[in-house]
Amino acid sequence: MILPIRLYGDPVLRRSARDVKTFDDDLRNLASDMIETMHDANGVGLAAPQVGLPLRLFVALELGPVEETDGEEDESTDERPVLATHVMVNPRITSREGSQIAPDGCLSIPGLWVDDMVRDASVRVTFQDLDGAPHELEAQGHFAHVIQHELDHLDGVLFFDRLPKQARRDFLETHRSELADMQRRAKAMIKERKATPVA
Ligand code: ZN
Repeated sequence: MILPIRLYGDPVLRRSARDVKTFDDDLRNLASDMIETMHDANGVGLAAPQVGLPLRLFVALELGPVEETDGEEDESTDERPVLATHVMVNPRITSREGSQIAPDGCLSIPGLWVDDMVRDASVRVTFQDLDGAPHELEAQGHFAHVIQHELDHLDGVLFFDRLPKQARRDFLETHRSELADMQRRAKAMIKERKATPVA
């Protein structure tokens, strides 16, 4: 089932999410809905707060290097093959190394992005799977970038918060009207949810 994605301005995006303690069918269904929702929105990651649940869980794609498309010079058609789809429950970064600069954007802040987000180049993450079993992995490059972005969502942090002070201010100023519009839409969505009895 495709879930509505919460927009910038929805307070759930600013809340610190709580640990997942129950590993049951509800959790498995949520993860599967989140994967479907992420694909539907053409995203590479989605955190539970983005679908309104303040739980420490995200889904993320691990992509391979860009595949050259024959005779296509247009960058926007670059496709990265999906190597794996990950579900990380109660994730924690236990070590970080180096730095990388990459574009960053967010399904909860549609249409806005930055070209030069600085994040750690590689991270070691511990997490649980949907059965509660512990895992550890090391991620590099794009996947490491995605993990850091999604993990931030679990602490109520949005990508532009990670910009240096002046760049953050510039981002908020440049996109003031789009962000205000998102906040209005987020409020309207909240109102609508309150008015609609849960089936
Ligand atoms: Zn995001």
